[in-house]
Amino acid sequence: MATLLFGTAGIPQSTWPQETGEGIRRVAALGLDCMEIEFVHGVYLDEANAKAMAGIARNNKVKLSVHAPYFLNFNARELPKLHSSQGTLHKAARIARLCGAESVVFHPGFYLGNPPGQVYETIKTSLEGVLDKLKSDDNPITLRPESSGKPTQFGTIDEITRLSLDLPNIAPCIDLAHWHARGGGNNSYEECSGLLAGLKKDLGEAALKEMHIHLSGIEYGKNGEKKHLPLRSSDLEYEQLLRALKEHGAGGTLICESPNREEDALLLKETYQKM
Ligand SMILES: [Zn+2]
Repeated sequence: MATLLFGTAGIPQSTWPQETGEGIRRVAALGLDCMEIEFVHGVYLDEANAKAMAGIARNNKVKLSVHAPYFLNFNARELPKLHSSQGTLHKAARIARLCGAESVVFHPGFYLGNPPGQVYETIKTSLEGVLDKLKSDDNPITLRPESSGKPTQFGTIDEITRLSLDLPNIAPCIDLAHWHARGGGNNSYEECSGLLAGLKKDLGEAALKEMHIHLSGIEYGKNGEKKHLPLRSSDLEYEQLLRALKEHGAGGTLICESPNREEDALLLKETYQKM
């Protein structure tokens, strides 16, 4: 049976001092399994620190992943912006690899009013440039475009599935809160089962066993995602979603992005284990 690991987006709030290495130890002490290092405002670890994190993670049996900076846009109109997005993702992937991470999550970009089909091709070509560099670095890390929570933001489930099929070393990051926030549906056992069956059909059984999932409570409106909320303050039917994950044998990593990150990560893990 596939194993699903549960952990926090970033250093647990109850960590003191608020440092990455202490955060990894805190994740283990809490009884959680994994942590996503949040490079969302910049790649803040240098090579030596990244290697140190790999050691701490190994010793504490915590699986690490990385979230790349928010400011990437692989559909940027200006060439310097596009090149800086490529450079930043490449750097995040290099440091992630030194941390022992197997996945880098990133937000691919915005439509900026362009037709989705054209944006798809632009983003695909931009990512090929990054993948070429990673190949020449011998860096086998998986880049994970995240499903987006806003209709203006590239990243429907179909788009990221297609990228995963068209390019090597690309796999989805399925953000179930974002999926729900794009219209308020997608919040039941049946809908989540449909999603998982679709992923299995398109990407194969192995992809279902090596998923990367984001989950949190979420506030949304007609323009989609507004902000993350604690699970119990939101309308997210997390028990139904977890039941679908369990019954479909989904494995991999589930990262909780709620504001009360470790509390909700533990709630999710305990709920899942009791099923
Ligand atoms: Zn994200």
